[in-house]
Order: sequence, then structure tokens, then C-alpha cells
Amino acid sequence: MSEYVSQLMAWVQAKNPAEPEFHQAVQEVADSLALVLERHTEYRAAKVLERIIEPERVIMFRVPWVDDQGTVQINKGFRIEMNSAIGPYKGGLRFHPSVNLGILKFLAFEQVFKNALTTLPMGGGKGGSDFDPKGKSDNEVMRFCQSFMTELSRHIGNNTDIPAGDIGVGGREIGFMFGQYKKIRNEFTGVLTGKGLNWGGSLIRPEATGYGAVYFAAEMLETRGETLKGKTCLVSGSGNVAQYTCEKLLDLGAKPVTLSDSGGVIYDKDGIDREKLAFVMDLKNVRRGRIKEYADKHKGVEYTATDASLDHNPLWSYKAECAFPSATQNEINHVDAKYLLDNGVYVVSEGANMPSTPEAVHAFLENKILYGPGKAANAGGVAVSGLEMAQNSMRYSWTREEVDNRLQLIMKNIHQACIDASERFDRKGNYVDGANIAGFLKVADSMIDQGVV
Ligand code: NAP
Repeated sequence: MSEYVSQLMAWVQAKNPAEPEFHQAVQEVADSLALVLERHTEYRAAKVLERIIEPERVIMFRVPWVDDQGTVQINKGFRIEMNSAIGPYKGGLRFHPSVNLGILKFLAFEQVFKNALTTLPMGGGKGGSDFDPKGKSDNEVMRFCQSFMTELSRHIGNNTDIPAGDIGVGGREIGFMFGQYKKIRNEFTGVLTGKGLNWGGSLIRPEATGYGAVYFAAEMLETRGETLKGKTCLVSGSGNVAQYTCEKLLDLGAKPVTLSDSGGVIYDKDGIDREKLAFVMDLKNVRRGRIKEYADKHKGVEYTATDASLDHNPLWSYKAECAFPSATQNEINHVDAKYLLDNGVYVVSEGANMPSTPEAVHAFLENKILYGPGKAANAGGVAVSGLEMAQNSMRYSWTREEVDNRLQLIMKNIHQACIDASERFDRKGNYVDGANIAGFLKVADSMIDQGVV
């Protein structure tokens, strides 16, 4: 670690105590930028990285609501407006009991670099609540979303800050929040993305993150003259990103064999085909059930319940060539990474944000596998959100094919931008450094142009 980076990290830890995920995200970027900051002293002189680390604005608020029993419930609401150098704040809302300030700051920080990579004019933000939609009735979710938006509506707008979905926030939640925003502000604008198709949504937005992660893997494989056809793939999670990762893997002739949720892991050695995937989509998006039902319903499927006393996640110990972590942060630790490498995985494309611990990332880079970090590999979701904003501004909708073509082109460009930046700074083949450097340069140069604000 350079002296500059170690001093920076000491400052970040002192000023942002008890936010380990935020420290982890900053450390990774700072390590990647050490050489850039050495060669380009103008960034250090203007304290650009120090400014990027400090959110432009943090909004925290109370979200009171009444459950079906008539009991008053109170949750925390957050919006981190991290950086608006290249466009309005843009990033998802996460509803999960684990949500806290540090987790949202790490996600907002990552989002700044990711959005810069998409080539679209979007700054970075993130928000959410410690509310858990699991086990709640539709009416409870609606009342919560309305209360959340009653406060959030003061701070967002189609030229200011445009939230989208993330863990626990899908089409249902976006619908309830959009309805409340429209009622309070008396305006119909593209203030959220991931909207329903009848009211301003874009085709391919639900699919975009998963499809993009698969397109990114295909780009990485192409550098070795290979394709995804016939490859066995491990996919974690069973939500939005995992489902559409499976769908695109099937389109490209690959074989997904695993899925999971917080309750456990399923392994289907015959492969999750289209019919089984349709079962998962109904189970998760309509009936809101647990992945264990997949094993109950289909013959020959192994189910392993989550065991918090284990030092690893059994999902990553099956034989395969590719892995698509699509659940949550730090879901691949150093033990999991060793299992993956020992069992033949040489492509990791991250649908989730920061799913690999620093030790796991180190192992992937040491072994020179094709490792696509989330910032680059899962940028397809926000990219199509950017396309949804463009369509809303034009009051026009592109066809499915047109959006998908643009998504593929964006993923190709992101892949190339990572390669170019990594080569320019002598880190050839390192997509982590490539993504961090390419994203940083665009934001940093814009910040310098705009002065100290
Ligand atoms: P989602 O639809 O809510 O699905 C999340 C899945 O991950 C569920 O299967 C969930 O299981 C599992 N999961 C979540 N937290 C977990 C935990 N702490 N332990 C074990 N399993 C957990 O969310 P999503 O939109 O697919 O997001 C998945 C990941 O992709 C997140 O890292 C998100 O930040 C990232 N991402 C999403 C988008 C997007 O467009 N949606 C874009 C970029 C990146 P349970 O249901 O049991 O909790």
C-alpha cells in the first residue's frame, strides 16, 4: 500500500467509524488509483478523491407506518446523494433489515464509478430503509412505500435525483412509490426508473442487470477466443438479477445449475431450464416463496439449508466454469474463492455489488482468471435506467430489440474502457483496476472543470 493510500485510509476510518463496507469499497478504489495519483499530481492537489469519498448530501429520516394489526411501526429512511459531477444522482433503493448508513455509503460510492463507466450522464446515489418486505402484506408494503416517499419526494426530482430498485425493491414497490410521488407533487415525470411499461417504464429494464452481467462475461471470454456455450454456471440469489442472469445464460447455450436465497441453496445437476426458471419467477415474483420449494418440486435436486456456523457458502463448491454472484455483498470469502478456483471456475462476473471479499478478489487476480467486478459487470441495470430516463424525456418508447442492442453495446464499451485503462496504467488484464481508473478519470476531470463545489 502506498503511503498516500495508507494515510487516506486512516483518515477515512477515523472520519467514518463503524462503516466497514464503506472502508472496504474505498480501499479497493484507492489501491487501484495509487499509480494514477502518482502520475497525475493535479488530482491530489485538488483533493479530488478525498472529495469523492465525502457524500455531497446525506438525508436520513423517520418512516412511520401502521401494520395490518393497527400497530405503529417505525423504520429508518436514507438517501445518499454522493456525487453529481457528471449528471443527477442516480442509484437504487434497498429495503432490507441489514440496511444502515455504512452499507448505503459503500453502494453510493460504487455507483459513482459504475455510472461513469456506462457513458451516460448520471451521477451517483443510493438509498433505502431497514424495512423488510418479506412476510408483509401488499397493503403493508404500500403504506410503508407511501410514508417513505412522502419524505423522500422533497429531495428527489427528474433533474436532481432519480432512484431505482435494488434488493427488496422491485416493480411493486416502485409502483407504490411512483404513485405517491405523483400525488404529492402533482406531476408525472420520470422520477424513478424501473417503472411499469404502461406508465413510463422501459422494455428490458427488469432484465438489464442480469443480461448485462452475462454480456460482460461473454466479452471477457471472447478475449480468449471462447464463448459461454456449453459452460456450467453457478448463480447465487434468486431475485431480479439471478433470474435474468439464468435467462440470458440459457439464451447463449450455457447451463445454470444453482440458485439460492437467505434460507438455502439449490443445486440442479441437470440444469435450470426454461420451464424450471418460469417456476422460480412465479415462486419469487408472484407467490413470494422460498427457494426450497424448487427442490421439493423437482426430482434429483440437492437443497442445502443455510448454516451460519460454516466458514463458507456451499453454493460455491460445485464444479463449474463460470460464477455469477447475484445476491449480496461479501457472499464470496477466501474459502469460497479457493473452492471456486479448485473446482475449475475461471470466469466470475459480478451481478451483485461487492459480492467478493478483498481476500477473494486477491485470489482471483493472483490466479489470473477472468474476473469482472460488479462496478463494470452489473452496470447494465443502471445503464438501461439511463435509457428509461432518455425515453421519458422524449415521451417515446424504444422497442425491446433497440434497448437490448444499446445495452449490449454499452456492456461492450464498458469492457473495452476497462481494458484500455488497465493497459494505460500497466495493469493489463486487471478489470478491477481498469474499472476504477476509467470511472475515476471521467468524474475527476469533471470535478476539476467545475471548481471546488
Ligand atoms: P432481489 O430481487 O431482492 O433479490 C436478492 C436475492 O439475494 C434474494 O434471493 C435474496 O434472498 C438474496 N439475498 C439478499 N440478501 C441476502 C443475504 N444477506 N444473505 C443471503 N441472501 C441474500 O435483489 P436484486 O435486485 O436481484 O439484487 C441482487 C444484487 O444485485 C444486490 O447486490 C444488488 O445491489 C445488485 N444489483 C442490482 C441491480 C438491479 O437492477 N436490481 C443493479 C445492480 C446491482 P432472500 O429473499 O431470502 O432475502
